[in-house]
Amino acid sequence: MAGSYTRGLHELGDSLYAYLQPDGGWGWSNAGLVCDGKHSLLVDTLFDLRLTERMLTEMRRAEPAAARIDTLVNTHANGDHCYGNELVGDARIVASGRTAAEMSELPPAAFAALVEQAPNMGEVGAFFLDCFGEFHFDGIELALPTQTFDGELTLHVGAKEVRLVEVGPAHTRGDTLALLPSERVLFSGDILFHGAHPIAWAGPVSNWIDACDRVLEMDLEVIVPGHGPLADKHAVSECKAYFQYLYAQGRRCHAEGMSPVEAARSIALDRWAQWGEPERLAVNVATIYRELDGTQEPGEALVAFSQMAELARGG
Ligand SMILES: [Zn+2]
Repeated sequence: MAGSYTRGLHELGDSLYAYLQPDGGWGWSNAGLVCDGKHSLLVDTLFDLRLTERMLTEMRRAEPAAARIDTLVNTHANGDHCYGNELVGDARIVASGRTAAEMSELPPAAFAALVEQAPNMGEVGAFFLDCFGEFHFDGIELALPTQTFDGELTLHVGAKEVRLVEVGPAHTRGDTLALLPSERVLFSGDILFHGAHPIAWAGPVSNWIDACDRVLEMDLEVIVPGHGPLADKHAVSECKAYFQYLYAQGRRCHAEGMSPVEAARSIALDRWAQWGEPERLAVNVATIYRELDGTQEPGEALVAFSQMAELARGG
């Protein structure tokens, strides 16, 4: 694992790149490019068209094959990994069936409307703007997957093999890992946030722990996380330990009758004190509570943002 954490393309091997967007906070996601000869595969697009166009321009400069992307893989349904899809709209777009279904549920227009209403929404609106106010959601036509799979799917980019492994629901309902076994590189999507709190929108957290184990079994040199600098398996071990610890603490707080926000305030996180976006703890605890209660439906996003705004305010 090498290289500095700067915005743009980072070469990981022969015609193999990560595209990084510091500081990796809300909406600042990473992507990837795999080429061989005239063949190309893109892992994820970015949160808006301007950012995605800037990325594609840089990719085309580095690799002529990126002038026309053959295949786009969306690791999951969050907008910061797919709202730029229309800019490679003639590509085959591959995602898990669960991701494809989820992608149609929060279209960019709904997101744009939320940002527009945010100034009238008090504390939660202010928090929402803190997270997403820098992005441009107007006029995005979301290009949906054209090919879906369940479980695993192996793709080829010229002679390179890209193995898609669905490990969700965890972060979202259909998280997918993209592994290049020969190159020992993994694009983890948001199964790994490097240097920040993960956020378990969907859960169950036990699936996320299992996903970490799947990654830890792989022979890897570099992991391109969904957010944050390039990583190795140590970061995945830390993520697994975080969720194991949080599950035990969440169980205790649940038994004591604390609300998710009260629990998040009471849980000591010394080992992960340096991680960004600590407000996500409220959502992770709420997701663990749903798991303990046996309710599997994902939480309401607005409730989640209210809980995070409350936690962020309380410090
Ligand atoms: Zn993301």
